Amino acid sequence: SDSHFPVPISPSHVDYSLHYPQFFPSAGQANNSKKIQFADIGCGFGGLLISLSTLFPETLMIGMELRDKVTEYVKERILALRVANPGQYQNVSVVRTNSMKYIPNYFEKAQLTKMFFLFPDPHFKEKNHRRRVISPHLLDEYAYALEVGGIIYTITDVEELGEWMKSCLENHPMFEALSEKELEADPVVKLLSSATEEGQKVARNGGQTFPAIFRRIVPSDQT
Ligand code: SAM
Repeated sequence: SDSHFPVPISPSHVDYSLHYPQFFPSAGQANNSKKIQFADIGCGFGGLLISLSTLFPETLMIGMELRDKVTEYVKERILALRVANPGQYQNVSVVRTNSMKYIPNYFEKAQLTKMFFLFPDPHFKEKNHRRRVISPHLLDEYAYALEVGGIIYTITDVEELGEWMKSCLENHPMFEALSEKELEADPVVKLLSSATEEGQKVARNGGQTFPAIFRRIVPSDQT
């Protein structure tokens, strides 16, 4: 249950020195000048983050994962990479938390430039749709945490879930789909399948994937 992991009372209480010691050598910095900009929600074994870490070496990024053992594995994986590659992988970290409850405890308004929801659990039954990590209500929270122009990446191998995530995003006033051209120009799009453990599994089995990639916009009645 949630009682087993600590939750910061606000984003300014997230101790960056624990996550990124090379960037923040001293503890308890309340006014971090540099902030986390990428969040991989339900990061699993962390493959995407590891790839992003070297692609964007100056960007702080974090994985959020509910399972304790998986989170510990990702922590160890990052530490081992830091030891084997001095100076690298200093910008990536992971935290055990329930993203459906605690995103506002970690990120301020407009803090994030990218959020990832890759191969989330499908929750097939109608009565369990409220457990899906993409929902109209949770998109309000994600829109709050993302800066205008920030991008939300989703992908799944479950067609029905793909349709659901796409329609939630299409119907939300604060998101608009990226164009084909923009998708092609974005190096991160290719990583959604190739760098994630789930994506690799789907590719090995020759499965199809259904991405939905949207930009945070200012709703048209506010311009
Ligand atoms: N994104 C990874 C990938 O593509 O390889 C992992 C996908 S896995 C199917 C879904 C992950 O989301 C699991 O590791 C699960 O523990 C995590 N998860 C499910 N609900 C969560 C929640 N409320 N908060 C954080 N993580 C969650």
